Amino acid sequence: MITSAAKATVIRPVAEVVTSVQTLEGGGFPVRRPFPTARLPQVDPFLLFDHLGPVPWGPGEGIGAPDHPHRGFETVTYLLSGEMQHKDSAGNSGTLRPGDVQWMTAGAGVVHSELPSAAFMKSGGTMNGFQIWVNLPARAKMARPRYQDIPAERIPEAESADGKVKVRVIAGESLGKAAVIDTHTPILYLHFTLQPGAEIVQPAPENYNALAYVITGEVRAGDENRAVREGQMARFGGGGVVRLGVDVNAAGPAELLLLAGQPLNEPVERHGPFVMNSREEIVQAIHDSQEGRMGKIAI
Ligand code: MN
Repeated sequence: MITSAAKATVIRPVAEVVTSVQTLEGGGFPVRRPFPTARLPQVDPFLLFDHLGPVPWGPGEGIGAPDHPHRGFETVTYLLSGEMQHKDSAGNSGTLRPGDVQWMTAGAGVVHSELPSAAFMKSGGTMNGFQIWVNLPARAKMARPRYQDIPAERIPEAESADGKVKVRVIAGESLGKAAVIDTHTPILYLHFTLQPGAEIVQPAPENYNALAYVITGEVRAGDENRAVREGQMARFGGGGVVRLGVDVNAAGPAELLLLAGQPLNEPVERHGPFVMNSREEIVQAIHDSQEGRMGKIAI
């Protein structure tokens, strides 16, 4: 018999390695997207994972996503380089710079715009970041919209004793540091930088779904040390911890995002920017949006 204490230390295997598809989003900016695809519609509670860039834009060239609505979930934006300006129908406005996180709960509905900032448009530069959609449970889909704008300096950072593992704790806990962001359901969102020879064994409760996306370099993941390369995502099977490392002989460090969360196990009906539990709720969302009930940007 395996006790629950023993299960908590089981290293999760890699269930599959997914290579991102490349597509255009918003006004036409390129993204790498491990999901949703026809084969992998979601990793419950995560609905979408977009790596925006890295894309070099000349002055005046930057492209973003002008005014559009959302209902029923959260959009989480994390910038590595470049500068974005977000505005919404609730009167919020914020500039995202490298290392900043914006955790937006669309809830009952917002209209927002996500555009390169005026300063970025003038200078040009490399835009690089992520947008992740986190589903909301049925009870929170019509919640009041909320913004959590967290500047880089407020994101907790930790390092392993040997100095080979560095982590930025966006949600959840790692290496003894807890995130400042509040989530509706339990979520782990960690940005790791691993030097050659690094290894991290990160607790990710057994009832969570877990994935790792490699930003740069090559990572060894799971109980069999599967190679996961830049632009690829590992989806993990069951277990209590996620093991990630970099070969001691690797040419350089690797960076990755580790996401894990408690699945909602609820019906998912999606239609573009709306994600609800039923067809009827989607029809209502489209109607409410067309009638202007999700507001408009006035700033
Ligand atoms: Mn959006």
